[in-house]
Amino acid sequence: MVIDLRSDTVTKPSKGMLEYMMAAEVGDDVYKEDPSVNALEEHLAELFGMDQALFFPSGSMANQAALKLHTNPGEQVICDKYAHIYNYEGGGASFNSGISCKLIDGHRGMFTAEQAEASINPPDFYHSPLTSLIAIENTTNKGGGACWDFEELKRIRKIADRHALGYHLDGARLWNALVAKNERPKAYGGLFDTISVCLSKGLGCPMGSVLIGKKDIMQRAIRVRKILGGGMRQVGFAAAAGLYAINRNLDLLADDHIRAKEIGEVLKSKSYIKKVEPIETNIIIFELDDDVDEQTFLNTLKKKDIHIIGMGSNKLRMVTHIDYTDMMHDSLLQTLGTL
Ligand SMILES: *Cc1c(COP(=O)(O)O)cnc(C)c1O
Repeated sequence: MVIDLRSDTVTKPSKGMLEYMMAAEVGDDVYKEDPSVNALEEHLAELFGMDQALFFPSGSMANQAALKLHTNPGEQVICDKYAHIYNYEGGGASFNSGISCKLIDGHRGMFTAEQAEASINPPDFYHSPLTSLIAIENTTNKGGGACWDFEELKRIRKIADRHALGYHLDGARLWNALVAKNERPKAYGGLFDTISVCLSKGLGCPMGSVLIGKKDIMQRAIRVRKILGGGMRQVGFAAAAGLYAINRNLDLLADDHIRAKEIGEVLKSKSYIKKVEPIETNIIIFELDDDVDEQTFLNTLKKKDIHIIGMGSNKLRMVTHIDYTDMMHDSLLQTLGTL
């Protein structure tokens, strides 16, 4: 039995999902003639109470399109130093949009409205890049699945309004935050200008993300997606997986969160662990004791068919997901306990 906790992207479509996908009605989505894609986009726009949604092949592309829609070359986006758009999208912000990132030294990938406001360059000071966007991430990936306080997000909205900045949410992992904090998608839809959500993480789809937003911004999104190479044809098979997952798999995230907390409890009790970061959703980040070598530890687990990833500086990560079964969970807890 292989236990793969490297990421929640390692999941495979379930039998039910595959059957639903195969039965999907499809058409050419570049002509907007794919009924399944259109249904997914309409469903998500409606779910978030926003005007329009657009299907993307990946979360990175949805975020990159959002950056492009909110900025002009030479301008600057404010984000946390842990932000996915800065660390894990291949330098796309500068490559695709010609913009720079002003990094905030936040806490677990989150920052305050005061920090955001202090990062805005004065618009008449032409020596500095013009600030045009604030981007936040919920839950935070590198921050260990931490969830933002919604009140802080509201305060940042006010800062964005006061300075006429765009406000983007990288919500690749927003489903986890919604479930963990019992929040409503419409609350987020009412706060942000654009939101990206992933279908291929906790929800267990083989691919796909959706960018949701206000009409005046989203009407240019289809052109940007085309430029980025993201116009796809009979992609309703993938969109159908998304529709299936939103209806059936959303509530299952609560189980992922419980299991992650249980893993954290076992880790905390072990002498080879220095620190376990607070666990709010499905990501467990922990630090090994100074005298434990990271590679040796990873190899020990690998020999027992347990796969997790190193994040550098003796920090390791596990992510629970829909394909992580009760049997795997029992076996993992037992193994960690005996190490
Ligand atoms: C996974 C992820 C993305 C995008 O991922 P893709 O692999 O490009 O689909 C974006 N932001 C966050 C926070 C993520 O966790």
